[in-house]
Amino acid sequence: MSDPNVTLFTKIIQREIPADIVYEDELAIAFRDISPQAPVHVLVVPKKPIPKLAEAIPDDHRVLGHLMMTVKRIADQLDLSDYRVVINNGEGAGQTVFHLHLHLLGGRSMSWPPG
Ligand code: C5P
Repeated sequence: MSDPNVTLFTKIIQREIPADIVYEDELAIAFRDISPQAPVHVLVVPKKPIPKLAEAIPDDHRVLGHLMMTVKRIADQLDLSDYRVVINNGEGAGQTVFHLHLHLLGGRSMSWPPG
């Protein structure tokens, strides 16, 4: 039986699937979304395969904070001032890949609320 924690993001981390990687360190990787919803659409992904935010445990607090600082770092790197950060938690919220990730979206004006 296949391991449910091995999603295509694990395969990107392991370089088994190609991706346009914009940042990487020991805890996280960031790459451009294959189906961008804005001129800048980057996914920031922990190397630990947490399936979704609701399954994070207290010990994950360091990596969760690191993901936010990584978003900020990439926004600075890409010269974004205004941007949106999204986490889809669960199918009903639009999550399709069950390996936690933050969407960094920028480069166009945005409306609220999201659909
Ligand atoms: O939040 P959600 O789970 O829907 O986000 C998954 C994202 O992963 C989608 O925006 C999708 O375009 C992206 N994706 C990707 N590369 C793939 C498969 C999916 O960037 N090979």
